[in-house]
Amino acid sequence: MLQQTQVVTVVPYFERWLRELPGWRELARASEEQVLRLWEGLGYYHRARRLQLLAQTVMERFGGEIPSSREELEKLPGLGPYTAAAVAAIAFNQPELPIDGNIRRVLARFGADGAKASRAQDEHFRQLVAPELRAPDRPRQLVQALMELGALVCKPRQPECRACPLRQNCRALAQGHPERYPAKKVALAPRPLHISFCWAVNDDSCVLLRQRPEKGRFPGHFEPPLVEAPGARESQNLLAELLGSQPRTLAPFRRDFTTYRVTWHPHVLEFSGGPLDGYEWVFLELALKLNLVPVLARHLRELAASRRLQSR
Ligand code: SF4
Repeated sequence: MLQQTQVVTVVPYFERWLRELPGWRELARASEEQVLRLWEGLGYYHRARRLQLLAQTVMERFGGEIPSSREELEKLPGLGPYTAAAVAAIAFNQPELPIDGNIRRVLARFGADGAKASRAQDEHFRQLVAPELRAPDRPRQLVQALMELGALVCKPRQPECRACPLRQNCRALAQGHPERYPAKKVALAPRPLHISFCWAVNDDSCVLLRQRPEKGRFPGHFEPPLVEAPGARESQNLLAELLGSQPRTLAPFRRDFTTYRVTWHPHVLEFSGGPLDGYEWVFLELALKLNLVPVLARHLRELAASRRLQSR
């Protein structure tokens, strides 16, 4: 729930979730409708589905008890190496170190380690911390302490070294330039990308939608007919080809991905034929409630509110 979402937003969702689905058993047996309803508003709905798949796996394979070792946790659906290490350390006190941005920054500064982030560096950090993780009850305290230290004290800019319990032995502080660590990533220049999409509407006020695959960008989200190309004209031509007619063009807008500078080209079209292959007609009211690709959901809401969705 906390991915890309602030704690203050998540708290009421989390509490409501635990009231209705307090354990693995309840979550495993819940209907998808209930799970998605409880998640509604948090976005990235594949996480809710994966959480339910996790609950079902824990019930079927582990009799309702989630395993405590990182190795076993990593085999569960939806848990990558970082989350598995974090659960093992924080929930089960296993000597594991989940390395996130905060922990990497603290340890890189503490040892004045100027290497770029890599598996080798992560391994080095694990060895550095390993003796501290051996004491009983230590992993959960140490891991959370390092996370909090990175978030609140050893901040990316202007770390508050005077308040830091590590200041006596911190090499970056001794050098006088903590902010030089960790080594900065060399950012690749984002590439241009043009995405043309079309809200195709029929006489019953339905829009054409399809669900994206569960893998890749925006997994499991819904989208209207949409094409991507390196150039604007190219993407618009491809869209017209997909629709089999020329849609009406609306004002383009920018919304970037991490590695792409994206120009979105919206279109509308009064569409009287049957649905395109792979797409379905969905009532506009329902479409507005579906898990659409977020930038498209916003656009559809604005269009529906301004009543510009109707064709001329
Ligand atoms: S002394 Fe400063 S740079 Fe070193 S770990 Fe603490 S906050 Fe970070």
